[in-house]
Amino acid sequence: MIENVIEFFKNLPAKSCTTCGKEIEEQHECYSNKCEECNVI
Ligand SMILES: [Zn+2]
Repeated sequence: MIENVIEFFKNLPAKSCTTCGKEIEEQHECYSNKCEECNVI
C-alpha cells in the first residue's frame, strides 16, 4: 500500500510557477503556485 502512495506522487505532474513557469521543486502544501523567486513578498 505504501508503494502505491509513492507511485501516486511520482505520477503527479510537477508544479509550475504561475508567474514565470518555472518548475517548483519544493512543494509547499498551502502556498500558491509560485516559485521561491516569485513568491517573495
Ligand atoms: Zn516564478
